[in-house]
This record gives sequence, structure tokens and C-alpha cells, in this order.
Amino acid sequence: MTLHKKKIVIAGAGIGGLAAAACLQKAGFNVELFERAGELRTAGSGLSLMANALTALADMGIRPDFKDAQEFELLRFLTQRGRPIRNIEFGALTRRIGQPNLAIHRATLQRALLEQTAGCKIELGVKATGYVHDRNGVVVTLSDGREVFADVLIGADGFNSNIRACMVGQERPNDWRYIIWRATLPFSHSRVTPGYVAHYWGRGQRFGLADIGGGNVYWWGTRNMSPELANNWRGGKAEIQKLYADWADEVQEVIAATPEEGISAIAAQDKSFLENWGDGPVTLLGDAAHPMLTSFGQGAGLAVEDAAVLAHCLTTIEDTKTALRTYENRRRDRARAMVEGSRALSRIEQLENPLSTFARSLYFRFVPARSLSRKNEMSLVFPGVE
Ligand SMILES: Cc1cc2nc3c(=O)[nH]c(=O)nc-3n(C[C@H](O)[C@H](O)[C@H](O)COP(=O)(O)OP(=O)(O)OC[C@H]3O[C@@H](n4cnc5c(N)ncnc54)[C@H](O)[C@@H]3O)c2cc1C
Repeated sequence: MTLHKKKIVIAGAGIGGLAAAACLQKAGFNVELFERAGELRTAGSGLSLMANALTALADMGIRPDFKDAQEFELLRFLTQRGRPIRNIEFGALTRRIGQPNLAIHRATLQRALLEQTAGCKIELGVKATGYVHDRNGVVVTLSDGREVFADVLIGADGFNSNIRACMVGQERPNDWRYIIWRATLPFSHSRVTPGYVAHYWGRGQRFGLADIGGGNVYWWGTRNMSPELANNWRGGKAEIQKLYADWADEVQEVIAATPEEGISAIAAQDKSFLENWGDGPVTLLGDAAHPMLTSFGQGAGLAVEDAAVLAHCLTTIEDTKTALRTYENRRRDRARAMVEGSRALSRIEQLENPLSTFARSLYFRFVPARSLSRKNEMSLVFPGVE
């Protein structure tokens, strides 16, 4: 292992920040993380972590123990009543890639990544508020008044990144005019077999249900509404139950089984794509660099891919700024494609007009398997660290 003297500060110990810390620590850098939250998340929702993310980690020699996660090989698209529209099979592709797709609790994912960061200094309850840089490096300002010097600053501080704001100024997020509710809970149902992942499509509304292992499921539901309502939603479980009253039994039952306080709501938002996310010895990663809608289920996956490519560039290219610009150049096109792909799919998923939703079902029933496989392949095959 090469021992690099460079000091790298990471703002944010979310999925991307922890993955970057793991990869950089393993490569011999001196890594320090600052996380705004007072403790690393133990609650929260579930997510899919696809084969591309696991390949990226494996390429950097990181093999976290995801023992509580659930592998899945099939994604079912169903009508709101639960009738099949189309199944998407991942098995052949993931076997070829040599990595599975996982449905996982966010806390399980963060815990597994955290275990890979032994030796990194992690300070909780401290926010990165900004930075200034000169030819020697970068000074990071912290919410407790300290200033910390680093050779490299990585802004992995998520959707509302302070580091991004310091780089490009304040931006207005794009509102996509719908809300997302989500929850995880212990749940069983005869239809929810091991590895069950299903998306139910309604009109202006959809629902996702996934087995995340250990007898737990993750669900999310969406509903078209104005940005004002979506950003300030004050409704409760009863209102959600009413919206899904005539949906498949398992949908109604899982909502009914969820404690009111276990449901969180978030407005569907992304930001205009940022073509350049670097500034001298500073770069961005994950949602801070390319926040995207959830439709592709690849936000966390891309954050992990970023981490691997960034660590590889810093390890193999001596000049820091060249390494950072190379990382950004290698990631830009793929990130842009995912952001745009998620928007396109989201528009289709949230269609409300009865004719359009009928045409959507027809299209998905009959679109050639070849065309779907190409799209899956583009998403699930990690293009590599080079
Ligand atoms: C409803 C929903 C469903 C999703 N489903 C999926 C899915 O199925 N699959 C998938 O791959 N992705 C999914 N995503 C996207 C995924 O959650 C994100 O893309 C992913 O978490 C990005 O990782 P990140 O590390 O960039 O940001 P985050 O995971 O958000 O981490 C950012 C971290 O930075 C900390 N922080 C913030 N500001 C500061 C600061 N100033 N200083 C220090 N720390 C700070 C935060 O507390 C947080 O810990 C979903 C997102 C949503 C909203």
C-alpha cells in the first residue's frame, strides 16, 4: 500500500462520504470527516444498491459485509390493483457482472461502510460551512468556529450542500410537483416473498414495496401535488390510506401496519445539472455534485461510484488539481445521463391522464426486451475507475 501524506477533508458522512473515506483510507491517505448530524443515522428508509455500486467498491478492494441486506433479481411493474404489467429480470446480467442488486436499510448500508473506515477521524455534530483556497491547499470553515487545513476538500454534504453553495452560489431546486412518502417496518404478506421488489403504477400516483431482509420491508408512495403542498405537507397516515384505498391488498396492509411516526415525507426535487463541480483543490461527490430524482434508484449507487473513481484518480495522479479534474471529467457524462434518465422516467411514472396511463401500460407490456436490457446494462455496469 502506498502511503500518501496528503490530508483529505470530507464534508458529510452519508453514503458517498463514507464510501470515499473507505476507498481513500485504504489507499493510504490521511482522511478526516465532518458530519453535521450528532449521530450516524440508525433510523431511516430503505434503498436499492445496485450491482454497479458493489462493483465500484470491489474494484477499490472494499467488500463491506451487507449481511442484513436482501438480494433481488426481479423488478415487477404492476397496476395499482396488483396485476402484472411487466417483469424486469436482472439475474442473467448480475451473474455476468458478478455482483448482486441489493435492497437494503439505509442504516445497514451506512454501518457496513462505516466499518470500512477504521482509522479515519470522524467528527459528528460539526457542519462544514465553507472554504477558501490558495496555492497551498484549502481552509475549511466549521460551524464550531474552527478552521481546518487540507490538501483536498470533498463536498459530500448531500442535496443542500454548503460546499456546492460556496462554489456556485445559492440555487433554487427544481420542483417536480409530487411528494414521496416512505417508511420501513417489519411486515409479512403471502405475496411479499424473499427478494420481492414491486412498483405499482396508478394515475399521478405510484407505490413501491421491497423486501429489505430480516423480515423488514421498505415502501414508498408518491402523489402529484403542487410544490407548495409537497414542501409543507402536514397530512397523516389516514390521508395516505385514503389515497391508496383501492390498491392491491399488500399496499393497503403495509400502510395500515406502519406507525404514523414512521412515515416521512419529502418533495420530489433535483437541481439543474452542474457541468463543473470542481474549484481548485475542492470537488463534489454524490448528491452534492449531481442530485437526481429517485426514479432510477441510483443516487446512492452513483455516489459510491464517484467515491471509487475519485480515490483512484487521487491515488494514481500526483498533482492534486489534475487528479480532481480528471475525476470530474470521468464522471460527468454518466451522472448527466442518470439525472436526465431519472427525469424522463419520473415524467412517465407520474402521468395522471387516463389515456396516457393506458398508453404507458401498453408500451411497457410490449416494448422489446432488448430495449429494456440495453437500459439496464447502461445502468448496472460500472464503467470502471479509469
Ligand atoms: C425517497 C428517496 C428514495 C431514494 N431511493 C434510492 C434508491 O433506491 N437507490 C439509490 O441508489 N438512491 C436512492 N435515493 C438517493 C440517495 O438517497 C442519495 O442519492 C444518496 O443518499 C446520496 O448520498 P450522499 O452521500 O451524496 O448524500 P447523503 O446520503 O444525503 O449524505 C450527506 C451527508 O452529509 C451531511 N451533511 C449535510 N450538510 C453538511 C455539512 N454542511 N457539513 C457536514 N455534513 C453535512 C448529512 O447529514 C448527511 O449525512 C433516494 C432518495 C430519496 C429522497
